[in-house]
Amino acid sequence: MQEKKEYKLIRCGRLYDGTCDAMHSNWEILVEDDRIQEVGARVTCPEGTKVIDLSDCTVTPGMIDAHVHFQHVNWQVRNRDAVYKGGVWRSMAYLYNARKSLYRGFTSIRCIGGSTFDYYGGIAAKNMINQGYFDGARLIVMPYYCCTPGSHGDHSQYLWENPYLSELQIKTAPTCGSGADFFRNAVRKEIKYGADFAKVFVNGGVSTPHDAPDDESMTKEEMAAVIETAHGLRVPVTAHVYSDQTMQKLLNLGIDGMEHGSFMTRATASRFEDSGTYLVPTLCCLNDAVHPDPEKLAQKAAHYREKLMKYSPQYIEGRKVILSSNIKLGYGTDFVANYHPYDHGREYECWIQNGVEPYRILRAMTKNNAEILRIDKDLGTIEVGKLADIAAWKRDPMTDPLAFCDCSFVMKNGNIYPTETSL
Ligand SMILES: [Zn+2]
Repeated sequence: MQEKKEYKLIRCGRLYDGTCDAMHSNWEILVEDDRIQEVGARVTCPEGTKVIDLSDCTVTPGMIDAHVHFQHVNWQVRNRDAVYKGGVWRSMAYLYNARKSLYRGFTSIRCIGGSTFDYYGGIAAKNMINQGYFDGARLIVMPYYCCTPGSHGDHSQYLWENPYLSELQIKTAPTCGSGADFFRNAVRKEIKYGADFAKVFVNGGVSTPHDAPDDESMTKEEMAAVIETAHGLRVPVTAHVYSDQTMQKLLNLGIDGMEHGSFMTRATASRFEDSGTYLVPTLCCLNDAVHPDPEKLAQKAAHYREKLMKYSPQYIEGRKVILSSNIKLGYGTDFVANYHPYDHGREYECWIQNGVEPYRILRAMTKNNAEILRIDKDLGTIEVGKLADIAAWKRDPMTDPLAFCDCSFVMKNGNIYPTETSL
């Protein structure tokens, strides 16, 4: 006997459906089980349809964050936890964060990896959520990124004053090493254990003590080995990158997209535009370099402050280039140093502060991110036939930069979950 279908009608005050730059007033969505059956000004409902009244809200597709690190829960002690917490803690952190994300209206998340072994906890969390054992956002996971010893991705760098301990710590990083063959093997193993994509750490960063944002910490051969191996197995590749020169190298190697891209020049932006390569600019976590807040900076380590000030002009210039370009932008938070990893709505506030037009941000959070995560066949827009991932917000995103910190309703795969606010 066929089971009876379940119908839900959502009455939307305003609907952003992800297909165009518009808010539809008083549209309705009919959901049949886990899929969207009809969308429009007036839809026809079968008998017994449950009505969900969101006429005082802005309704959007379930939001997507393309850059998170879910192995830690509290940013204030993250660097300490990276050393002192074990792999089981890190694995469980994925579940904790994924549930917080879902309850805050973010229904799909790309977990962009770590370097310290955690028993492939991200993959286990993804599967447990998919099989219904835990509430949580849908996870797209890359467990361990490819990086070299002493680079920004190598957490044993924090133990540099004690080489013995540092050497012990680096042994727990399965994809931290040197040489093209090492990385070919690393990528094959990652994919074997369920990685949805691969990532290379090719430049330094601000938060680590011994590298700089424009250091190139991988050779061209090493970058090529990762990209070629992953592409052979039909897996996309992204990169942690700041330097303009390094971005040019990665574009030559046919990389799918990049994270940060902060020191972008106009010539490089053109290559992104022409090739359709995406960029996840992670504006908020780097905002101190563009809009320094002396009070916040005073709480940071000396090396962090110094690097930030030194590279500030390049961050400011690069951000102008990125935001005035037509590069396909993704929305990613990378919250490891200023907010919790599930405070996804804070990035919206930052984009608005940097003068980005709301519809461009909305597109990044929905349609563009679904394409970046390669889930766009089923997600990212509210259209007939797609999975019913739907969120609603009481505050108006057109006028309120904190709108996406305050979720009023969330549905994933047609199921309704509790909501919570980040404010
Ligand atoms: Zn990151």
